[in-house]
Amino acid sequence: MVKPIEGNGTTEEQWRTWTAMRQWPELTLDPPGPPLVVAPHPDDEILGVAGLMAVLGHADLAAVTDGEASHPGSTVHTPASLAAVRRSETAEALRRLGLGSAAVHRLGHPDGGIDEERLTGQLAELLTPGRWCLVTWRGDGHPDHEATGRAAARACAATGARLLEYPIWAWHWSYPGSPDVPWDRAHRVELPPAARTAKAAAIAAFPSQTAPLGPDSADAAILPPHVVARFTRPFEVIFT
Ligand SMILES: [Zn+2]
Repeated sequence: MVKPIEGNGTTEEQWRTWTAMRQWPELTLDPPGPPLVVAPHPDDEILGVAGLMAVLGHADLAAVTDGEASHPGSTVHTPASLAAVRRSETAEALRRLGLGSAAVHRLGHPDGGIDEERLTGQLAELLTPGRWCLVTWRGDGHPDHEATGRAAARACAATGARLLEYPIWAWHWSYPGSPDVPWDRAHRVELPPAARTAKAAAIAAFPSQTAPLGPDSADAAILPPHVVARFTRPFEVIFT
């Protein structure tokens, strides 16, 4: 269900006090080959699973949109120039993870207008039986994240690939123990120090999102420090 993403949301300090998180089982890291990481917008893949990608040492990326709608009304960027900026930020982030040679499949959907039918077919062509498909959770609360998750779930069902979902905006609108989140499917990916460092560097490769584009309110940062804090934990969370 789509949730309003506004205000400060649940803080990382609040998440940190939730002891149940420490009991979640660890995800067994046994993919049969490079996983396919599916990102509705450039930076979702990094916020959600950059540490996992760094640990595995290989991954291919399916970039569903170029994220050109992150700053409607920007006085600095047109949607086209913002798309170009965000594409190059993704490339730099992958380099910082040691994945500069990763295949990047640009699927060409408009930001805010994903064609779920077409996306399902595109993802099915990239998936094979048993291949890991890491994708934003179907209940994440953002329409693009949910549409992408649903399309990936259908593509996995059609091909026999393994669906693994990562929450992004759920860390904002949900709260410890929230009944709207499938915590019973949560698994942890522990990040060694080198992977944490690489993830922090990769997040910093997105200044168009982590810093204001300019002084106008339409150019405010999408990922201010209190949001980034939720993604610099020593572990990542995957719903299996
Ligand atoms: Zn996104």
